[in-house]
Amino acid sequence: MSKKTTGIKQYRCKKCDAPYPLGADDVIATCPYCGYTFTIDGSEIKHLILPNKLNEKSAHSTVMQWLEFAAKKTVGKGVVKTIELEKPRLQWFPVFRVEGDYESFHFGYKQEGSGDSRKYRRIENRDSGRCIEWVIARRHAATFGIDEFVLSLEDTPTQSFTIDKTDNAPVLNSEIDDTDSIRRAKRNRKDRDRVELLEKMSKLLDHSFEIIPESSVYTHAPYWLVRYTYQKGTFRVAVSGATGKVLLGELPVTKRYRVKKWFISVFMLIFGSLFFQVLPYVLYIFFQGSSSGDAGDAWLIPIGILVLGVFLWVGSVITIGGSLKYEIQVNAKGEECRDPFSIDGAIKRIGGK
Ligand SMILES: [Zn+2]
Repeated sequence: MSKKTTGIKQYRCKKCDAPYPLGADDVIATCPYCGYTFTIDGSEIKHLILPNKLNEKSAHSTVMQWLEFAAKKTVGKGVVKTIELEKPRLQWFPVFRVEGDYESFHFGYKQEGSGDSRKYRRIENRDSGRCIEWVIARRHAATFGIDEFVLSLEDTPTQSFTIDKTDNAPVLNSEIDDTDSIRRAKRNRKDRDRVELLEKMSKLLDHSFEIIPESSVYTHAPYWLVRYTYQKGTFRVAVSGATGKVLLGELPVTKRYRVKKWFISVFMLIFGSLFFQVLPYVLYIFFQGSSSGDAGDAWLIPIGILVLGVFLWVGSVITIGGSLKYEIQVNAKGEECRDPFSIDGAIKRIGGK
């Protein structure tokens, strides 16, 4: 933090002579008065803007509508009645639009069935085509909903940048150059492809995703942040001005939500215990059976029961933990964003092995 504050230096615009501060990490800067945009080493660059579809009023109503919809699906719609929205705030985020051809290849297996009927299906594919990848041009982009923002830009039409299109909102400077943007675009796209593949495959043995870039164009994109208060807490909703849609929002955890989670948790605990109760009997029958010789795959039954029991107990603890949270994160579709340690995630990971 201290590095950032000491790193700010005063600068005078080459074009309009207005003084303004530059950050120590800035690589490409835009004059907030005339819009003159240049690389720190000297040359002017022409750049693009994604037009902003919202104003304070429409951003406000977009967020209210979304809150009603998302609260109904999660914490209960009663929340919305006592919510107070603060003034929506627009910021122009620096991004690069990297476009080019891509070539991809993957090879691996998908496991189907289990036990004796287990089969491995070979999955292999080669693909190529056009792609557009947006890259955030900030080094420490810990802004709320910024990943969702960049992904949502897709093929939104651009215009050439002029300062009057920014509605007097802050225009952030770039902390990376276009070489860096291409490197990041390649890495991000490949990582995303890998994650998508791992969701449908048990084992990924070979994977490549190459972008052959043709252009990397510096662009400013409109990002809105709307804060609201509920009881004594403050919560955030991020909205894209480029699409006019909500990206990600926080919702307060209500009593109704806590009670629901608590019931699920108790239910899991009881079922988990039932499994442990029957385990000794199953083991007894199993040992009786194995002494007479022909056991086969029967040993899987007590192990299966044990695993299920442990899963339900762990799930119960995670669910009750979830109900103790102060807020939840909800995506554009009104679905609660999963914790990295969620029970379905854990089952998926174990199941995939
Ligand atoms: Zn200027």
